[in-house]
Amino acid sequence: MTWKLKRVSEKGSDPLRRGKKLNKNDSLPKGQTPFRIPSRSATLCKMKKKPGKKRREKLQKKVDKTHGLRNYHDDDVEVRKGKYGLGVYAARQFLPGEFVFEVTGQLLPHENYNGSDYVMELNEQWYLEPTTPAAFLNHSCSPNSELVQLTKHSLGLVAVCNIEPESEIVFDYQWEPHEGTPQCRCGALNCRGWVVAADSVHKMTKSKKKARKKTKM
Ligand SMILES: [Zn+2]
Repeated sequence: MTWKLKRVSEKGSDPLRRGKKLNKNDSLPKGQTPFRIPSRSATLCKMKKKPGKKRREKLQKKVDKTHGLRNYHDDDVEVRKGKYGLGVYAARQFLPGEFVFEVTGQLLPHENYNGSDYVMELNEQWYLEPTTPAAFLNHSCSPNSELVQLTKHSLGLVAVCNIEPESEIVFDYQWEPHEGTPQCRCGALNCRGWVVAADSVHKMTKSKKKARKKTKM
């Protein structure tokens, strides 16, 4: 085993400082360790082995099965696989204006949130990270439902048109443009092309044009 050292400084004759490759049997100056482990890799070191993709998928499946995270059904809706992965489907008909379900989940204060994109903004102070089934609602530029604020800390999903049984329930995410904003493939006739609010589409097309220019240069 060899340690590769980063060059720290030109000064001194100490092999550590000269960026010399050390062998395991080389003696280190008294009281010195080969390199300082940053805190993040320190936690990684604790793990015996980084779980591989397959192993992670297997573990996730087990968790999903035990806790019912990715399957849900009641008399009104069900979560199942569709064209674009998991989605929420109507188990019965919903009429325009009809309440579909309450969106429940974890409340998170704005200032220390750095999680998923799927969080919903409740007000200036709180986000709501939805649980099943709302966590699996997909986006469409031509939605058949919309979110309404029920109380200060809860949201509800309401049908905005007739939703036939078996059809997917979707709403308009209206994301703020951000790094990695996905292109929309909802297939609606009025698809805006990006999963952003209508008034932000021009920003996305602009940044795409800029990126194209850069690659040409
Ligand atoms: Zn679309």
